[in-house]
Amino acid sequence: AAKEHGKHQYAFYQPELTQKAEYRFRVEQSLRQAVEKQQLSLVYQPQVDIHTGKIIGVEALSRWHHPSLGEVPPTEFIATAERIGMIKPLTEWVLRTACKQVVDWRQAGVSNIRMAVNISPVYFLDKDFVTLIKNVLAETGIVPSELELEVTESVVQTDQQNLSIFSELKELGVLLAIDDFGTGYSSFASLKHLQVDCLKIDKYFIHDMLADHKSKRLIGSMIEMCQGLDHKIVAEGVETSEQCHTLQQFGCEMAQGYLFSKPIGADEITQLLNCNSHYGKGIWPHKLDS
Ligand code: C2E
Ligand code: MG
Ligand code: MG
Ligand code: MG
Repeated sequence: AAKEHGKHQYAFYQPELTQKAEYRFRVEQSLRQAVEKQQLSLVYQPQVDIHTGKIIGVEALSRWHHPSLGEVPPTEFIATAERIGMIKPLTEWVLRTACKQVVDWRQAGVSNIRMAVNISPVYFLDKDFVTLIKNVLAETGIVPSELELEVTESVVQTDQQNLSIFSELKELGVLLAIDDFGTGYSSFASLKHLQVDCLKIDKYFIHDMLADHKSKRLIGSMIEMCQGLDHKIVAEGVETSEQCHTLQQFGCEMAQGYLFSKPIGADEITQLLNCNSHYGKGIWPHKLDS
């Protein structure tokens, strides 16, 4: 019976494992050419000043449409890119494309807008990274303060090497943001030493914030501490006007989430930005003053 049971398990798990392994393998194989084959694209999600409703910036998010696998989630292909040594070319493509987009928007006469780009810690800590940023700034003509680099807390260590990367980037004039803030290991003590412009409170906290009094107090305290350290705050994953309203009361300035917009194409952003300057007061007042 034991043997039979084992056999049964084997038969049950094998196809699933094979499927996953095969998917991974195909992702790996085709990712190497995805950039050249122009299968990657960027979508942009607005970051909104929740007091005025104005779009302050956008976050660039990568999308990969594979001819037979379909949409491969970014969490999947970014991890793969890190593993197979493709994260450099991929990040370079994202940075160039995103920065060119800002210049295109400027030339089309839409208001100045900040572009946030996610940077994998693997590349951020690479010795070539600062040089890449210098090159991209020079090539594309984006104003340095229009570019914000989002890194996760894993790079926040008061390690001498990390500290010098942060200060070299600050010297270039680009902005730095800590993504998914609150889920990693950074202590407020280590944040004090870093020249970080913005903390993006992870969507997990926003999702939970109205569940009970403790969660609400937690987010309030987080916001207060961030402000005490002179960091701007962006709340991620804001989906309801109740969440937005509470964040406003706590003094949070900016938010990003489905309440305002999903990540969308560059043309749709252009339209939103045109509305933005046309209406002046912002485009989401009905959602904001609820
Ligand atoms: P992230 O940087 O924290 O980006 C925010 C993620 O939350 C995005 O998922 C976005 O679509 C999603 N999101 C936005 N608003 C809401 C909301 O109201 N509710 C919920 N539930 N989700 C919301 P996405 O686009 O699937 O990206 C996932 C992650 O993949 C990103 O998380 C980022 O870490 C990574 N990623 C995406 N593009 C790139 C890239 O070009 N380079 C690197 N290194 N990482 C990237
Ligand atoms: Mg991000
Ligand atoms: Mg991220
Ligand atoms: Mg995040």
